[in-house]
Amino acid sequence: MTNKLSVTFLGTGTSQGIPIIGSTHPVCLSSNEKDKRLRVSVLLSWKEYNYVIDCGPDFRQQMLRQHVNRLDGILYTHEHSDHTAGLDDIRPYFFRQGNIPLFAHSRVVASLKKRFDYIFEEKNKYPGAPTVDINLVKNNEPFSIGDTLVTPINVMHNKVQVFGYRVGDFTYLTDVKTIAPEELEKIKGSKVVVVNALRIEPHISHFNLEEALAFIDLIQPEKAYLTHISHLLGFHDEIEKSLPSNIHLAYDNLTITI
Ligand SMILES: [Zn+2]
Repeated sequence: MTNKLSVTFLGTGTSQGIPIIGSTHPVCLSSNEKDKRLRVSVLLSWKEYNYVIDCGPDFRQQMLRQHVNRLDGILYTHEHSDHTAGLDDIRPYFFRQGNIPLFAHSRVVASLKKRFDYIFEEKNKYPGAPTVDINLVKNNEPFSIGDTLVTPINVMHNKVQVFGYRVGDFTYLTDVKTIAPEELEKIKGSKVVVVNALRIEPHISHFNLEEALAFIDLIQPEKAYLTHISHLLGFHDEIEKSLPSNIHLAYDNLTITI
């Protein structure tokens, strides 16, 4: 337990994870643990608090392998399945702690209500289903988690709005393709920035490596980490070697302290 913010990369892979089921791509066949990437999520821990950003299909496995025995809430970036599909697995936390707070855009909440209708049932709810407390995240409205203020960063994933989050000197952004100048201002001054870098080739809704590096150059953080990585980016060790010394590829189970 520490007063400093510690950030653990629970997953650093793109939507199918790495390896992709059945793939014979060399990166999918790699025996390097750093080339094995669950769906993207981070754990934010400080003092007695534990929050996750996103709750994808690997959530249960991620909580088990990091021994997260208490969860104070989930911040959502957007509604895509690789960021939301694990919600049912909050049950052990709900049974022990009670309602689990969620922080999300109203559009994401509407999507969760469709995907997990039984969780939001108000009459005759199945007793084994978890219950959540909804906190709506709105652009330009910082909010608190635990004793800490969070600033939402409004970015675009092609046509889908996504929230990134700044907590003190740390900013986490995933599934970004474009950022408006006024949002860049909210990120500036961050000591550590995490941003998505899907692959070498351009993509319609994600930064490729070149775009991620250009973004980092605009912000000039002390350190930056790349996440939401596809097998098409290449082998971890080779890409890592090619990066400037203050920029790293994130990998699963990496913990950094800010
Ligand atoms: Zn995604």
